[in-house]
Amino acid sequence: GAESARRPGVTVDSSKAKTSLEALKISLRQLRWKEFPFGRRLPCDIYWHGVSFHDSNIFSGQVNKFPGMTETVRKITLSRAMRTMRDLFPLEYNFYPRSWILPEELPLFVAEVRTMKDSNPSWKPTFIVKPDGGCQGDGIYLIKDPSDIRLTGSIQSRPAVVQEYICKPLLVDKLKFDIRLYVLLKSLEPLEIYIAKDGLSRFCTEPYQEPTLKNLHQVFMHLTNYSLNIHSGNFIHSASANTGSKRTFSSILCRLSSRGADVKKLWSDIISLVIKTIIALTPELKVYYQSDIPAGKPGPTCFQILGFDILLMKDLKPVLLEVNANPSMRIEHEQELSPGVFENVPSPVDEKVKVAVIRDTLRLMDPQKKKRKDTQCPRGRMSSGPSQADPVVLCCRCQSPERAPGANEEPPDAAPGPEAALPSLCLKQVFPKYARHFSYLRLVDRVAALFIRFLGVKGTTKLGPTGFRTFIRNCKLSNSNFSMAAVDILYIDITRRWNSMGIDHKESGMCLQAFVEAFFCLAQKKYKALPLHKQVLSLIELCECRLAALHGKRLVWGCG
Ligand code: ADP
Repeated sequence: GAESARRPGVTVDSSKAKTSLEALKISLRQLRWKEFPFGRRLPCDIYWHGVSFHDSNIFSGQVNKFPGMTETVRKITLSRAMRTMRDLFPLEYNFYPRSWILPEELPLFVAEVRTMKDSNPSWKPTFIVKPDGGCQGDGIYLIKDPSDIRLTGSIQSRPAVVQEYICKPLLVDKLKFDIRLYVLLKSLEPLEIYIAKDGLSRFCTEPYQEPTLKNLHQVFMHLTNYSLNIHSGNFIHSASANTGSKRTFSSILCRLSSRGADVKKLWSDIISLVIKTIIALTPELKVYYQSDIPAGKPGPTCFQILGFDILLMKDLKPVLLEVNANPSMRIEHEQELSPGVFENVPSPVDEKVKVAVIRDTLRLMDPQKKKRKDTQCPRGRMSSGPSQADPVVLCCRCQSPERAPGANEEPPDAAPGPEAALPSLCLKQVFPKYARHFSYLRLVDRVAALFIRFLGVKGTTKLGPTGFRTFIRNCKLSNSNFSMAAVDILYIDITRRWNSMGIDHKESGMCLQAFVEAFFCLAQKKYKALPLHKQVLSLIELCECRLAALHGKRLVWGCG
């Protein structure tokens, strides 16, 4: 209408959208925004990248990838981050299968399994070995005993994660399935997280049986990857959302609800899992962010859609399998016309879910709406927590998650125009909405803030020995029991070990995880009697307090 004619449209550079291009184009048409498929000489409001944050020529606007996200969610890095959080908060972080990193933790894996078997002889575990950086089920295999790990051969010698295999997944139609949920990390500072109200369920194509030596190798029974199962003769393409080998998550919830399952509790557990996982990832992301987009320099702001792969156990407990930095946004699938001959055909189920996610992500990132909102309502709304009474909005009866009551939590857009014709948002804010329930978990974030403060030169991700010494000195952590020589030894020991694990050879120095380990070490030394999270919290508070005092002193000196 007249209003949209007056408003210059939002501009989107889609030249690097790759396989998400089709879904992006549909979204932009629905929003009536302006697409630049070949890029633009002038800056755009939004840059949509299909793969990763790789364009250092963007100086303004918003880009749909965070620097370092791909590295942060790799299997090994995610497992490490989850382990750190589990060490601090064992009860809160029990939704990720127990994992070990290969090859470096092979002896630990062998020893721990032996101890567990000794203490419980009836325990007959299965493990799943997944190569780091692999995807689509590539190189994955199941084992019954640590001695079955394949350590030779090119794929097998890659670093990998070995993980406890969830033997009793929830089945639908006798088949194992997993859930792909879309999560929008809208902002890192302050943390803002949204979850899409519908996702996809991807089914195996052979009836499930608990793992035995005989069936361990049957990928169509144990692995839910679409890219594998599509090659099984049993894969069913369906235009309907509640049949076939790929369905909407809402259709599964509907089935569960009709069987009497507590679907609201399940959603609240999923929301907790997502928030806790992102809390585990943010420290590392902040280190990458300050290095790629230093504060004070012109650069874009970032947001990102993540794909969470979740398995439901028989008792409906959700288990995190992995986080994808670049979840597939393709809205077509391959169909085998005759043996070996494939054709791309539209996939209505993918289109329904993915277009809504992209379109509503764009609506949330709308720079013009943001300007209006900033002047209208203050940030940081809080609420009562992911209670089971919360209208988490997957309405079974109407099969229309987007229109379910209570779904429209964002303030309605005042301006008429395309927005008025669109369904209410399919993305639900979960953080800071539920911040009150989760903020106590953000300890490593505060450790990362200390780390970043002492990094010194912008653009680095590793702390040099001088930076570490300055940290110790400024926080007054050395004393007669802990000399500066001991500080240097601690630095060298931990840094050398982390660098020998060969994660990132680009820079020398202490990476964040090494600093976190050193920090935990110092905290344990100083506050022996407390549980680990209290030790760490006490040391953080001490450091923050001493740094604030030092800063105050400097200000006074500066004035003088
Ligand atoms: P990829 O990135 O190669 O897809 P995933 O971690 O997603 O690797 O694992 C592939 C599939 O293997 C999953 O979709 C799931 O079906 C199965 N899987 C992975 N980890 C486990 C586990 N711990 N327990 C049971 N099944 C698992």
